[in-house]
Amino acid sequence: MELGIAVPVGSTGHLGHYRGGEGVPRSSALREESSALWRLLATHAGHHFTALYEGAERWRELYVGDLGPDVVGGDADLDIPFEDFLYGWREGDQAGLSVAGHGVLRCLECGAGLWLGKAYGAGPDEVSFFHAGAGAGGGRGNSANVPVNRALWRFLAEHVMHELSVGVNGEAPAAVIGGTDGPSFEDYVAGWPG
Ligand SMILES: [Zn+2]
Repeated sequence: MELGIAVPVGSTGHLGHYRGGEGVPRSSALREESSALWRLLATHAGHHFTALYEGAERWRELYVGDLGPDVVGGDADLDIPFEDFLYGWREGDQAGLSVAGHGVLRCLECGAGLWLGKAYGAGPDEVSFFHAGAGAGGGRGNSANVPVNRALWRFLAEHVMHELSVGVNGEAPAAVIGGTDGPSFEDYVAGWPG
């Protein structure tokens, strides 16, 4: 999935993402982009992945001849439009689903972690969506939950090119962002311009 252009912000070296152009909001404020990102994580529960710079060696390794990977939200012929990728996805709709566990996004290089919420689905390897909102049967989906959603975008920006994992009930670092012993989502994104 295309995350947008990586923008260096401030002296911290942290990056934000946006899709370019004057007045265009940062990716974390875009609805479809954010929904697609959360769906991507749910679909790949239990997998490892990396947010890559386009053109990085590991990105080029994904090419077969001239053919690059199918990118959600990309603009090449074979890419997948956001609306197709999101078709039929009922984020936050808990009807008929049970909690398969708790999701944590981990950076295996830095030891950092971000709580993704309860994993709703048929099992730890078949997650429909993560839900960090409070209360049974209600609450906004993560993509519409502003601090939770911004925390995910920040985490990906901060750990770009690092090996990440989407774990359900797996090992987790001691102080997970958004978890009981870690900083809150709000504190983590406070002052972050992305
Ligand atoms: Zn990292």
